[in-house]
Amino acid sequence: HEETLILVKPDGVKRGLTGEILRRIEAKGYVLVDLKMVQADRDLLTSHYAEHEGKPFFEPLVEFMSSGPTVAIRAAGDRVIEGFRSLAGATDPTTAAPGTIRGDLGRDWGLNVQQNLVHGSDSTLSAERELALWFG
Ligand code: ATP
Repeated sequence: HEETLILVKPDGVKRGLTGEILRRIEAKGYVLVDLKMVQADRDLLTSHYAEHEGKPFFEPLVEFMSSGPTVAIRAAGDRVIEGFRSLAGATDPTTAAPGTIRGDLGRDWGLNVQQNLVHGSDSTLSAERELALWFG
């Protein structure tokens, strides 16, 4: 049994892609264990993105992530961490492979932050940390 934190970022929510993204997670066979809409504040985002503090895209990233509601998802399934990252595709939506969430639904909008629709934890350690952060 494994769990991961998935976020539908504010760009995905604004574009009305929440349902499509949930559909892909469920179609792959993962279980939606818990789900909620969150207006993320600076404190939550600074903790969530602690590893990026000080990088040039940090401020634009926090601005973007606090620009509207995010859907936070606790998803479960064997190898769900790796599996969801594969579903999400590469960070840069312009070059993310077709067939992936970012590759099919995302693109560049000429901004200094990559609005790439989703986040997924990248290890068991970050999944534990991020689930505690977003779901308590
Ligand atoms: P992945 O790990 O699949 O690349 P991620 O969301 O974990 O996706 P991170 O490298 O942790 O990616 O970066 C966090 C977020 O910061 C990205 O999803 C993206 O929104 C933004 N970002 C990352 N790198 C850049 C960059 N070079 N320029 C602008 N925004 C970036």
